[in-house]
Amino acid sequence: MILHRILSVLLMIGAALALELLFGRRRSPRPRRSRWPANLGLGCLARLGTGNLILWVHAISAGWGYRVGRGFFDRLGWDLLVKYAAFLLVVDFAQYWGHRLQHSVPLLWRIHAIHHTDLEVDATTTARVHPLQALVNIATATVALMLGLGGIVLGFRTLKQAFSVASHTNVRVPALLDRVLRWFIVTPSYHLVHHSAIGTEMNSNYCSVFTFWDRLFGTYTELSRLPVGPGAFGLAERRDPMRLGFWRLMLLPFRPDFPSPDPAAAPAR
Ligand SMILES: [Zn+2]
Repeated sequence: MILHRILSVLLMIGAALALELLFGRRRSPRPRRSRWPANLGLGCLARLGTGNLILWVHAISAGWGYRVGRGFFDRLGWDLLVKYAAFLLVVDFAQYWGHRLQHSVPLLWRIHAIHHTDLEVDATTTARVHPLQALVNIATATVALMLGLGGIVLGFRTLKQAFSVASHTNVRVPALLDRVLRWFIVTPSYHLVHHSAIGTEMNSNYCSVFTFWDRLFGTYTELSRLPVGPGAFGLAERRDPMRLGFWRLMLLPFRPDFPSPDPAAAPAR
């Protein structure tokens, strides 16, 4: 089971890297050997460890939905497809606010910031998450548990994972197609802005599947002001590649000198 979970994500990332080789959008100024071991090591550890806790919560909520059928959506007399669509929207909405909170609450930012320390963005960046990140994501599982709909919970997890890998993939999407797609779903260039080294840009484009939440809540940025190249991505306070190895990243959330999140990330009152 654990091996299966690691393999499925590695397979997604492997397929995305093959696409990058064929349709690569930009050449990385950073040697891969300085980033990939940390990215893939963190990803495997997260799935081996706390990620399983999340999977269990999802599995329990799915089983609960199947057997009891008393989730909010299970009680509605709607057509099944309509219920599924509504479920996706509600969970995606929760993901948007969960992500936004991770940029504004200092404790959550300490965990999420590891994802933003990557000095380049490619499919392996998807795996660059601290093992504690899975505990933060438990909010989604809780929403799913309350809503019901059983197995769709597990389906959403796979969909979310696929979107996450695709949005970090370094591929060129034709400009016209990208402009049309980003009205509805997250594209690589859309999510690239979220990895910008400029704070106000990093605190925008929070969406993970559907993009209308960013437009609705005023956190949409069309394009980064930084030209793609050295210095375009990562955290301004953590740019030394020597301090971004696997163990340094593991311990980063616990460092006393950890920078606070940018106040611009906090929702307007
Ligand atoms: Zn983020």
